[in-house]
Amino acid sequence: MDFAARSLPARPKGTAMHSHPSDVSPPSHDRAPSALPEPAGGLLALVGNTPLIQLSRITAHLNPAVRVLAKAEWFNPGGSVKDRPASAILQQALESGMLGGGRVLLDSTSGNMGIAYATLGSSLGIPVCLAIPANASPERLAILRAHGVELYLTDPTEGTDGARLVAAEFAARAPAHYYFADQYSNPANWQAHFRTTGPEIVRQTQAQVTHFIAGLGTTGTMTGAGRFLRQSVPSVRLIAIQPDGPLHGLDGLKHLPSARLPEIFDPSIPDETITVDTESAYAMARRLARTEGLLVGVSAAAAADAALRVAERLESGTVVVIFPDSGLKYLGSSFWSAA
Ligand code: PMP
Repeated sequence: MDFAARSLPARPKGTAMHSHPSDVSPPSHDRAPSALPEPAGGLLALVGNTPLIQLSRITAHLNPAVRVLAKAEWFNPGGSVKDRPASAILQQALESGMLGGGRVLLDSTSGNMGIAYATLGSSLGIPVCLAIPANASPERLAILRAHGVELYLTDPTEGTDGARLVAAEFAARAPAHYYFADQYSNPANWQAHFRTTGPEIVRQTQAQVTHFIAGLGTTGTMTGAGRFLRQSVPSVRLIAIQPDGPLHGLDGLKHLPSARLPEIFDPSIPDETITVDTESAYAMARRLARTEGLLVGVSAAAAADAALRVAERLESGTVVVIFPDSGLKYLGSSFWSAA
């Protein structure tokens, strides 16, 4: 397999590895203007304000005073929840002069963050380079290539942690060429959810939300939205979703006990963690497609599986669950056709 097929730029002697883009000083000649160059009506304005969809058929057996509401994040222009942090990271980097003048946004991704960077980056004229495990789904790689992104395929056995190391290595070797966004340590990631996802949920439920459920990847969604919800609805119960082991099919989620812990993660935020196995998530994806009309991704299905288990133990409540993306990028998987 041709991992990281492109040759690495030579690392200047004495260049230190950095873990966060704020360590990198941008060259003075490529400072971006302080205002965003995006015209009115551009894509950035369409990020967020996604609908809450009430699950009605798979919840028919629940106590009638219990609602399960899914936040349909595929309504974002790049098709996933990751448009929120990508938009925040891009805007912050442009405003601080870390991007602009042809400097390349560099990060690692399991797919959706890359697609969000690619979508919003091309609308802003920002070139994007991504390190991504070579086993990312063909649909994801095709979307990234269609947007003209420069891709470095990394060792699939090393997962997203391996891709992150490759991206850090590239950034260290050519700090003037790249802005290393590092979504795992960049506070703009969780702050995007604190500023948008959390407030939207409070507004859309008229502060009736009793349970908030989200999967953990970079942990930005849970850290940011959870932090906001805890402040504005103190009685809310925050529930994180995790795969049941290191080898799993829940694309977008990380098995944190066996992975490098994202720097932005605040372990005090979730009140509870529920594990979901891949087969249960696949079965729920089929159920949602066939009985609710919702073709969702595997991590959304895992979150729905957990949300249903939580809702089954309630007498009343409003359970809000994040559905990070649609099922369109997963159609090549064989699990859809099972009975
Ligand atoms: N589901 C999918 C499909 C994702 O792409 C991601 C992002 N990696 C997540 C869940 C987890 O979101 P977060 O990174 O905010 O924890």
